[in-house]
Amino acid sequence: MTRNNPEVQEADENDLEVEKPKSWAAGIPGVVHSMQPALKHMGVDRSRKTLLAMNQKDGFDCMSCAWPDPDHRKPFEYCENGAKAVTWEATPVTIATEFWAEHTVEELRGRSEYWLGMQGRLTEPVYKPAGADHYIPVSWDDAFKIIAAKLNGLDSPDEAAFYTSGRTSNEAAFAYQLFVRAFGTNNLPDCSNMCHESSGWAMGETIGVGKATVKYDDFGKADLIIIMGQNPGTNHPRMLTALEECKENGGEIVAVNPLPEAGLRRYKNPQKVKGIIGHGTEIADQFLQIRLGGDMALLQALSKRVLDAEAAKPGTVLDHEFIQAHCEGLEELKAHLDKLDDQAVLEATGLRAEEIDELAARYLKADKVIITWAMGLTQQKKAVSTIKEIINLLLLRGNIGKPGAGASPIRGHSNVQGDRTMGIWEQMPPSFLDSIQKEFGFNPPREHGVDAVQAIAKMRDGGIKVFIALGGNLVAAISDTAAAEEAMENTEMTVQISTKLNRSHTVIGKEALILPTMGRTEIDRQATGEQFVSVEDTVSAVHPSWGHVEPVAPGLLSEVAIVSRLARTVLGDKVNVDWAGFEQDYDLIRRHISNVVVGCENYNERIRQEGGFMLTNGPRDSRTFNTPTGKAVFSIGDLEALDCPPGRLILQTLRSHDQFNTTIYGYNDRYRGIKKGRHVVFVNPQDLALLGIHDGQLVDVHGEHDDGRERVLRKFRVVAYPTAQGCAAAYYPEANVLVPLDSVAEVSNTPVSKQVIVRLEPVPEEPASDGGRQEDTGAKMSGRVKAPTVGTASEEAKKPEGGTLPDEAKTPEQATTPTDGKIPDPDAGWTGTGQ
Ligand code: SF4
Repeated sequence: MTRNNPEVQEADENDLEVEKPKSWAAGIPGVVHSMQPALKHMGVDRSRKTLLAMNQKDGFDCMSCAWPDPDHRKPFEYCENGAKAVTWEATPVTIATEFWAEHTVEELRGRSEYWLGMQGRLTEPVYKPAGADHYIPVSWDDAFKIIAAKLNGLDSPDEAAFYTSGRTSNEAAFAYQLFVRAFGTNNLPDCSNMCHESSGWAMGETIGVGKATVKYDDFGKADLIIIMGQNPGTNHPRMLTALEECKENGGEIVAVNPLPEAGLRRYKNPQKVKGIIGHGTEIADQFLQIRLGGDMALLQALSKRVLDAEAAKPGTVLDHEFIQAHCEGLEELKAHLDKLDDQAVLEATGLRAEEIDELAARYLKADKVIITWAMGLTQQKKAVSTIKEIINLLLLRGNIGKPGAGASPIRGHSNVQGDRTMGIWEQMPPSFLDSIQKEFGFNPPREHGVDAVQAIAKMRDGGIKVFIALGGNLVAAISDTAAAEEAMENTEMTVQISTKLNRSHTVIGKEALILPTMGRTEIDRQATGEQFVSVEDTVSAVHPSWGHVEPVAPGLLSEVAIVSRLARTVLGDKVNVDWAGFEQDYDLIRRHISNVVVGCENYNERIRQEGGFMLTNGPRDSRTFNTPTGKAVFSIGDLEALDCPPGRLILQTLRSHDQFNTTIYGYNDRYRGIKKGRHVVFVNPQDLALLGIHDGQLVDVHGEHDDGRERVLRKFRVVAYPTAQGCAAAYYPEANVLVPLDSVAEVSNTPVSKQVIVRLEPVPEEPASDGGRQEDTGAKMSGRVKAPTVGTASEEAKKPEGGTLPDEAKTPEQATTPTDGKIPDPDAGWTGTGQ
């Protein structure tokens, strides 16, 4: 056991280095980057025990993303990011008791996410009383009594909100939502509110289920996979293996994204000879470098081309049998798309008509098509309508409910989908609440609760006084950091149930508690013996997860134990639930899950089958659609031009390769060529030329919103990068400050983090008094040549409405497409430097 890490260094953004982006993902560097931190921080024995058990049928489920596991597993069934996540959790470094006396909350607040996480695992409950400036250790009993007194003193249960992170197991999630509903509220915001809420709404309304309609094996059977708004190389790295299978079986892959990501270009599978000493596998056959927010227009244009092809050769293109039997609304869709404005499509997408034609031809040629997507789509203002267009396109040719085809939202956190299945949602349907009533004999509240954005607004405005979080880091994860901080500080009490320190432990209510919990890697011993938990991945496969190493400290409680003891202390005899039994034997929770959650019948038996079981999925399994008419619905969506004023850019937030959600493992973003820092803004070099800003320059990034509040990222370094023209990118969570709390997607209320209008203002260069810090920084921009400063008043006058550059303002080079339908090769001069 090692005590906390006093030597951890904060990053100095002046040390930031920029190199050429990589043109391929994984390979031997991926293996090295997995093993180095594991061996360094966990040692050989703990590394062996954890990494060999990860994602195995008798092992534990990776706590990082929700990518599924194949049926036939190899000994090393994880990626670089999974190894980092395990190392982060299973580190034997712990926070010593003295730490709390040595650091005020204010001081901790000044530390970075990286420094906080690197202090090691939390091992004892701590409490910050009102008016105090330090946390102090307390007993578990006292911690639960303090929280119970506060909750039971509220005027209404709705004055509390209970957040859940996507790491939480099914058993803990079920017990937690039961406790919250027995307490008397549906205030159950979760991380899904900020990611795939849009997918759930769009798919629920059109095909009756808000989950993927594919299984793992379908990826290898597809003729075509279209990947939209997603960067699998960093965010779901083992998906590259499934994409490779598709290619090896003769399938094609098309990537639609504003940035040319390495993982979309080429994959070197470290478990294959060709990935170790060979060239690897080319991933994308076609790359459409779409403008941010242009996806809905592209999808409509594709559907229109499909309908035009059918009109040219009636009876040969659409899947008439499927549409006749299972769909409604085709005639309305045809009439709507007849009026589609081709020029508006080109302006919205930034693509050429030929690129769209080529993708349409690929779609028409393929019998089995999967479309996948992630945050690049779900965090747009019209995300729900956009995802409905994906469903339209798939339905036209019967690409739902047959092998090798389907709709596949790729979930970001390992059990975010399972938590929702277990009832973590502020608006669970009456049927679920009826089942709770029948099973437990109390009537749960029926009023909808608050989602994550609404919870922040209500905390800020005083309507919610207690905030309890089962994992996660909401203050960093949510949009509008200033509003989130104000909200947390305005509460009477915040409680975080966590494995490690993060920002949400430092931006807190008047009273605050941290309750340390065991991680998934750790053996969970309870009164009836070793327990396992269960999780659901992004294709609805449910499987067990067994801890494999000793808990990092003796006093740690599991999430189930914490929830059960908290419920017992808060509720007393209010409801007839055997909370003590829950803690002693997780089978008891699973018996209740069997009775309450549709699809989870005989849960204890089925979860013990080798590899677990698949939840049923009507559209996928039997082409049945749980909509009001029992039919899949073709939807009508109206395009809306994004208003980007002249001289402004549309910015998206994104994650680095050394990061998982808000957890920062390090300061490098290897594939994009960023080292030792995170304060960067990626901008297309042609946009930089027109803005009169050069690669490497420091700028303030101002968010522009009409509420009069200043939102700005100070002193960010410009990195010339082949983003789509008119578009920029900066790292999440830092760039959350630019996203107003009320900037949310229609219907789903998800923060719009992919369409932020910004302007860049150069920071005046300071005279170099110490030998030239700025000069040093410039020298470290190795591999890049500074672009000439070409912005002039006359060019400013030429900047277009809508954020695109008019052809007359472009150089001849710029006036042609920048990509020719392939992902730009950084080795061939795409260094974004005006070469
Ligand atoms: S792909 Fe996702 S689930 Fe699989 S090991 Fe990597 S991070 Fe973990």
